[in-house]
Amino acid sequence: MNAKNLQLSTYISEEQLQKKISEIGSILTDKFMNKKVTVVCILKGSFIFYSDLIRKINTDITCEFFGVSSYSGMTSTGEVKITLDLTSPISGQHIVLVEDIVDTGVTMDYLKKTIEARNPASLTTVALLEKPEALKVPCKLDHVGFQITNEFVVGYGLDYQGYYRNLPYIAQVQNFQ
Ligand code: 5GP
Repeated sequence: MNAKNLQLSTYISEEQLQKKISEIGSILTDKFMNKKVTVVCILKGSFIFYSDLIRKINTDITCEFFGVSSYSGMTSTGEVKITLDLTSPISGQHIVLVEDIVDTGVTMDYLKKTIEARNPASLTTVALLEKPEALKVPCKLDHVGFQITNEFVVGYGLDYQGYYRNLPYIAQVQNFQ
């Protein structure tokens, strides 16, 4: 399959994404008003969702970036690797983890354990997408944008072999064999 020649159909439109992001941003604004909160972008897939979401959080926040990788092509390897660590300690801070999609739950489970081991004041998890049918590791999320069926999606930060992250919407792939 040539990564650049996939047939795509819109699955979640820009309008649907922005409406949901405003709702989550408003909830996080209320929750963290007057608190010291660090919002962590999980790279690479959540960078677009993250940058839209933080602009809907209407209270003081600081930003951090945490890189992990677990996917190869269209399948999870089941092994999570840190590709970029946080730049400062998070002990005593309220942490919001922003992830693109929870599939098997392996990555989010790993992230939660890794962050909790660093003694934050609290940990809140946000995922734009969740595939409940694909879940292999129990993984309770605090805020989910959309629950989707167990199919591969691209766009709005999510890639296939590095491509399609710049699509402004979430797309399903029509011509996977
Ligand atoms: P998990 O560890 O939950 O199986 O996988 C989480 C990671 O796998 C996500 O952060 C994302 O990078 C990748 N992933 C899972 N499902 C999809 C999908 O449908 N499309 C894309 N592009 N990436 C996915």
